[in-house]
Amino acid sequence: MLAQRISLLSDSGTAAAREAVGLAAAEGRSIIDLGTGEVIIEPPASVREGAIIAINAGTNRYTNSIGLPPLRKAVAEKLAAETGIGWNIDDIVITAGAKQALLNAALTVLNPGDEVIIIRPYWPTFPSQVRLAGATPVFVDAPAPTYVPDIAAIRAAVTPHTKAIIINSPNNPTGAVYRRTTLQAIGELALNYQLWIISDECYSSFVFTGVRHESIVMAHPGVRSRTILVNAFSKELAITGWRLGYFAAPPEVVSASRKLQSHTTSNANVIAQHAILHHLKFGDGSFEQRMHQRLSDARNAGLRILAGLKDVVPAAADGSFFFYLDLSRLFSALPTAVPARSAEDIARFLLEKSGVGCVSGSSFGDANGLRLSFGAPPDELEPGLKRVVDFLNSLKNRQAAA
Ligand code: PLP
Repeated sequence: MLAQRISLLSDSGTAAAREAVGLAAAEGRSIIDLGTGEVIIEPPASVREGAIIAINAGTNRYTNSIGLPPLRKAVAEKLAAETGIGWNIDDIVITAGAKQALLNAALTVLNPGDEVIIIRPYWPTFPSQVRLAGATPVFVDAPAPTYVPDIAAIRAAVTPHTKAIIINSPNNPTGAVYRRTTLQAIGELALNYQLWIISDECYSSFVFTGVRHESIVMAHPGVRSRTILVNAFSKELAITGWRLGYFAAPPEVVSASRKLQSHTTSNANVIAQHAILHHLKFGDGSFEQRMHQRLSDARNAGLRILAGLKDVVPAAADGSFFFYLDLSRLFSALPTAVPARSAEDIARFLLEKSGVGCVSGSSFGDANGLRLSFGAPPDELEPGLKRVVDFLNSLKNRQAAA
């Protein structure tokens, strides 16, 4: 008999989508995978070089549980440069990816019985981790087409049990980037109700529409003492498998994490820590520039193709690297004989009939959404999106077989 907490965890929809693509490819079918949550590109030379130097130097020992001090200092300097706010080494914890940073946050500030506001569509790890900490997720919808939450709706969800709010801008899956006024209003609300803010800013380097990413602590400096600002190198440097993330937080959260990590993972992988430190010292910024340009070109090309959709308006994809389609109008336009009634059906048919992998919005708490990644290899993105457009546009004319 397993522990009850395991039953609180939902199966990962993104992992299921990845598996389905793998199975279809193993059958010898030509599959274009637009479901992936990472940019398919080689990581920067300076990161690889840093890892090799560390390995050749025989680096092998545990580090301080919250990270190598020089790396924490370098991350504090990076964050200071990006936010225009002073951070120092004592504010920073190095983690095994943003996921561990978020779990630390949940385990550090939540008690059983607490409620946590999560904006829907949501990245599915948020509610799972909240439940693991014994607390209850309370969802507030951020509706299409902007996918930006309404402050009145957030306020209406606050109860005497509300302990925290989790925000994620730039957003996975919707690509929404919250503007200063929204962040200020969320900050004000958190102050009024004394909530913790867990701000996941993993996609902060990917904003495309001339708007700058703004952290909530920039928009509302007054919330710094109640904010856990989570970020990672996973997406920014295309090293999802290396497991290197961090967070900046008030001293009590930092020292709680020191204890937590010392009893869980001990420390983030030492080679990855040295590699990132090397990159932060010697990287010339060209990889980040190239990555941004590639994604920006992919976004523009993709939006041009998606403009051919008849009953679907894609979200603006202001940030992150996802096109998020709201299929609700398409569903209402479909004849009843067509058995595609949810995004899950569409994702399944797209894989079966058009050989394109994508992620159904149901993985993110939204039965009408479809997530397509423009982090896919450039030569696959355009044919993949054309197949999606052709398939969705053909649905109205299809009969029962879909
Ligand atoms: N937060 C969000 C919003 C994500 O989309 C992801 C990964 O997909 C993560 C956190 C996890 O990042 P990491 O791989 O650094 O743990």
